[in-house]
Amino acid sequence: MPLFLRRKEVIAGSCVLAILIGVAAFVALYKKAPEIAPAAAVKSGPTYKVIGTSMEGRKIESYTYLPAEASAQTGGKGQQHLAFVGGMHGGYEWNSVLLAYTFMDYLESNPEAIPKNLTVTVIPSLNPDGVFKVTGKEGRFEIADVSTDKTILESGRFNANGVDLNRNFDCKWKPEATWRSKTVSAGGEAFSEPEARVLRSFISETHPDAVIFWHSQANAVYASECEEGILPATLDIMNAYANASGYRPAISFDAYEVAGDSEGWLASIGIPAITVELKTHETIEWERNLAGIKALFEYYDRTASSF
Ligand SMILES: [Zn+2]
Repeated sequence: MPLFLRRKEVIAGSCVLAILIGVAAFVALYKKAPEIAPAAAVKSGPTYKVIGTSMEGRKIESYTYLPAEASAQTGGKGQQHLAFVGGMHGGYEWNSVLLAYTFMDYLESNPEAIPKNLTVTVIPSLNPDGVFKVTGKEGRFEIADVSTDKTILESGRFNANGVDLNRNFDCKWKPEATWRSKTVSAGGEAFSEPEARVLRSFISETHPDAVIFWHSQANAVYASECEEGILPATLDIMNAYANASGYRPAISFDAYEVAGDSEGWLASIGIPAITVELKTHETIEWERNLAGIKALFEYYDRTASSF
């Protein structure tokens, strides 16, 4: 009965094969078990990017922080995006850069501080050549690195072309601008300077919902506008930051005429922006600014939840 025998062999063979597959599947499952075990909280740092370079080739960097408790629908990204910029006027406004680094340290150790609807980007030093002039350092520096020479500190306000960057943006731009009682260069045309173009590219690529600039030392929070008045959200965030931090809210800067400012340019393209001026050139006033930042987080968390 060769046919029967063959059938028997086939059946026996199939059984052995089935057992082998079963064993293999068991081993595979057993081996995989640790991987599907509870998802451990993975500490993920910010996304670091070099978003461009300064006139003298120094890096302009951005650090983007996602909420720790991101919702699945947003693919781990907050729906709203806040950008914080330090050091537009490097030099004697070095404290605005140190404040930005302190904020980054805070976000690293308190990732839960970012509401699940929010993404936060920090550009700590927009004018790294100006900061280098007074600290001799690239990237992070200590207070001890800062020059005490007044002339050096003052010259570091400008970029390496001697241009006041916060007069080089496309809002009522004109070649000569004012800083206090002085006439300063606003560049050859709007966005003639690499640092201003870096910020413009960042804005057009990321479309943030609001931008907060740190400067010193007028002890106030300023709204922004160009030709079309102040955006409603700008007033909201100016008041939120001012109330929480104790810096005076100021609808407009009227100490002297300012043209070509970055906040005004943002207003002209529909992006709310505020300027936070610290009280001195030497302190970061961390607790006050943290209170202001938290107020903004709450504001955007509320508005995102109401979508
Ligand atoms: Zn400034």
